[in-house]
Amino acid sequence: MGIAETNWAGNLTYSATRLLRPRSLEELQEGVRRSSKLKVLGSRHSFNSIADTSGELLSLEAMPPEVSINPQERTVTVNAWMRYGELALPLEAAGYALFNLASLPHISLIGACATATHGSGDTNPSLASAVRALEMVLADGSVVWLRRGQDWAFEGAVVGLGALGVVTRLTLDLVPSFALRQRVYLDLPFSQLEQHFEAITSSAYSLSLFTDWRGRRFAQVWRKSLADSAPAEPIWFGAKAATEPLHMLPGCPPQNTTPQLDVPGPWLERLPHFRLGHTPSNGEELQSEYLVPRQHALEAMGALFELGDQIAPVLQTSEVRTIAADHLWMSPYYQQPCVGLHFTWVKDWPAVREVLPRIEAQLRPFSPRPHWGKLFTLPPEALGPLYPRLPEFQRLMKTYDPEGKFQNAFLEQTLRGMH
Ligand SMILES: Cc1cc2nc3c(=O)[nH]c(=O)nc-3n(C[C@H](O)[C@H](O)[C@H](O)COP(=O)(O)OP(=O)(O)OC[C@H]3O[C@@H](n4cnc5c(N)ncnc54)[C@H](O)[C@@H]3O)c2cc1C
Repeated sequence: MGIAETNWAGNLTYSATRLLRPRSLEELQEGVRRSSKLKVLGSRHSFNSIADTSGELLSLEAMPPEVSINPQERTVTVNAWMRYGELALPLEAAGYALFNLASLPHISLIGACATATHGSGDTNPSLASAVRALEMVLADGSVVWLRRGQDWAFEGAVVGLGALGVVTRLTLDLVPSFALRQRVYLDLPFSQLEQHFEAITSSAYSLSLFTDWRGRRFAQVWRKSLADSAPAEPIWFGAKAATEPLHMLPGCPPQNTTPQLDVPGPWLERLPHFRLGHTPSNGEELQSEYLVPRQHALEAMGALFELGDQIAPVLQTSEVRTIAADHLWMSPYYQQPCVGLHFTWVKDWPAVREVLPRIEAQLRPFSPRPHWGKLFTLPPEALGPLYPRLPEFQRLMKTYDPEGKFQNAFLEQTLRGMH
């Protein structure tokens, strides 16, 4: 019998038989040792079954909190399950920042890193790139620390897809706190992006383009610029600066979004689109995202504009972002800068499931890698060639988890089929 717990979107009821909530590392180790099938839950924001199991689920929420800043190393060591928004407050108070955040501050650090979650910016890699070291409880209950530049397994373990063990602590790189200004622009023609792609995407610290793939235009562009950069122009590549705060979803309250209109503010209140105390996005939605190599970005977007009439009826909005390359084996951006083509769908899986294969076929020439935490129907054999370090990752799974305790249906179908 299941535990009747669901993911954030409510589109998945976990099929686990029990939810474990250890209160100490020893209790956690004991729980892992005793369990024969186990998955760890983050903040449950993934839309697919990557965190599901027919065995037991384990949540780290009852573990004692820790935030230890090391000013000499400029790092912070924290509980892996902490939410970005909760970590950002003590960091800001101490004069530090993380280099980037995702669109929402509600997700857990490790859930985000395990699935290669990203924000935006030509020079900003995935959030997982900030991980300098991690502590992990392996299937036999033993504890390992893996450190960047010291342990060969480190680059395999950070985007670990929940497949290697229970990550309990993370050490993250910090940067000095910084301020940003956010300005929304309306109606950017795709032709402008085609002509000025580099200039547009590099024009801000972080930039998001929103469209419904109709009319070859982007309804909104969210530009997050360093506070000391030149003030926003009223007209920019043919797009007009908004004169009031906006939500990117028509009809949703702008109060849920972070401050706009070029008012300077700290990184933690500008990098996410949504405020911590408010509902992120719509709350009633499904999501998909395909990461395509940056050099194919314009062709891939052109291909999606051709499908606009099929996509728009089930779409709330689409967001386009740029992500710099990293060195993490299972990251979609492994040694490859990418552009993320994201879809916030209406909450109607049968309708979304119809349209996904059409999008995937359209993007096929551009080597699309699906976001690990979102919905896709691409067959695993299409993904294998896109992950050159997959054989090493599979060896790592066998080494750390020889009995397959952390395997689940998602990993078995996806990774096994990727050969
Ligand atoms: C409204 C919304 C907005 C989003 N915005 C973005 C965005 O801007 N950019 C982006 O890239 N993605 C975005 N996402 C996707 C989201 O970042 C990912 O799905 C992410 O994995 C969610 O983290 P989580 O903590 O909820 O993880 P979960 O969904 O709970 O778990 C994800 C994976 O992490 C593993 N895991 C969790 N804890 C541990 C642990 N302690 N040790 C080992 N493995 C663990 C799980 O087993 C699972 O495999 C968004 C999702 C939502 C709902």
